[in-house]
Amino acid sequence: MASITPIPSVNFHLIKPCNMGCKYCFARFNDVDNQKLLRGGPDLHSALRIVDALADFGFQKITFAGGEPTLYPHLKAVVGRAKAHGLTTMLVTNGSKLNSTFYASYVDLLDWLTISVDSLSIDTNLRIGRATHGGRVLSRAEYEQRLLEAKAQKFRIKINTVVSRYNYTEDMNSFLDAVHPERWKVFQALPIRGENDDYRSEFEITTAEYKGFLVRHSRQPSLIVEDNDAMKGSYCMVNPAGAFYTNAEGILRESRPILEAGVEAAYQEMGYSTIKFLDRGGVYDWGNKGIYNIYALQMSRMIPLYNQTDVRAILPCCKYFCSIVQ
Ligand code: SF4
Repeated sequence: MASITPIPSVNFHLIKPCNMGCKYCFARFNDVDNQKLLRGGPDLHSALRIVDALADFGFQKITFAGGEPTLYPHLKAVVGRAKAHGLTTMLVTNGSKLNSTFYASYVDLLDWLTISVDSLSIDTNLRIGRATHGGRVLSRAEYEQRLLEAKAQKFRIKINTVVSRYNYTEDMNSFLDAVHPERWKVFQALPIRGENDDYRSEFEITTAEYKGFLVRHSRQPSLIVEDNDAMKGSYCMVNPAGAFYTNAEGILRESRPILEAGVEAAYQEMGYSTIKFLDRGGVYDWGNKGIYNIYALQMSRMIPLYNQTDVRAILPCCKYFCSIVQ
């Protein structure tokens, strides 16, 4: 374990390509040198070595994302490697490739399945760009069917929703009542320079508009709020070129490649905020290792946090530990 106080969960964006084209998408990796960024994602050997390195460093949860990660040809092997290390595994997908065959082959490998659902309206999804390049949009019935089937297969279910100018007046309550996700994370669409500027004026909303959406859905027990400030610098992310990257400064900035610099050195280049991670509720009972291990993790981090003389760091630890055990 490193002597610094790392965020315990990591997002590995395996692949740049996506079969959809959401206008606010900030995972296009336009800033990453295309010589380094293999459009199809890392080869299997490199991807497995990266997962090994992340697990050895001490990450406890890994979320595979993209682009669209189900397009990555080695997804199953990479998720399986993370599971073999004992990590909690999660996949974030636009849902277009999910079916019974997919569920059957990942049932022992994936703990969490996250589907991005921004709208239940075909027209709104078309305006967002949340449609395949062939113009196909998932209907409300298809989202429901995929989520309920995943639940029946014992995946833990999360929904991600990005609130933007396209959907901020929408009411998703009846859909959420029907599918009952364990977690529903509601993001405020985040402008990132060089990634989604072209559409910024089209998708950006004010804090008041974002809050209006939250108030409309405040009775949802799974609701997790994540505005622009909470998102910046609080996610530990690896890009398809195998480097950490951060959005803290409103652009994507990357570290040296993990396999060249080593995880700890590359991680330290990013200046991620463990405090912001804790403040946004990044630690919860995410399963697999269970509450005891989250407790042990937090306690093991408290002494080094305190030694950094950032007393504020202790407070979120206590706050989230308490919320876990209550
Ligand atoms: S589905 Fe996800 S990765 Fe694909 S364009 Fe939309 S936000 Fe980006």
